[in-house]
Amino acid sequence: KESRAMKFQRQHMDPDGPSNNSNYCNQMMRRRNMTKGWCKRVNTFVHEPLVDVQAICFQGNITCKNGQPNCHKSNSSMKITDCHETSGSKYPNCDYQTSHKERHIIVACEGNPYVPVHFHASV
Ligand code: 5GP
Repeated sequence: KESRAMKFQRQHMDPDGPSNNSNYCNQMMRRRNMTKGWCKRVNTFVHEPLVDVQAICFQGNITCKNGQPNCHKSNSSMKITDCHETSGSKYPNCDYQTSHKERHIIVACEGNPYVPVHFHASV
């Protein structure tokens, strides 16, 4: 079974991206299996080395929006792509708006080793 850590990597890690095109989210949301059964509405991809994203678990500790204590905010801004389902999107034809940004990111971490398991927000 896919671990929560592996699921985070599937849903959020694209260190070599982004290919510079407006179809990025349409392609990647499908390729990473987030358009099976339903269209995942919002998803962020991070274009930084995995080790740099894993290191966030040992950076600024903050409370998550749900009150859990295990959120962490990156010390540096990171290259990310925001994928937002468009108003015209209709499963199974999931359609996304692609926005490339540089932001600090907030992830939730768990386990031993203590690694990212949830993408919380970009700020
Ligand atoms: P909206 O832009 O629709 O008002 O809100 C999007 C929300 O989703 C924001 O709170 C943002 O922090 C959050 N968000 C952004 N990317 C992801 C993601 O990959 N996974 C989850 N669970 N939330 C995300």
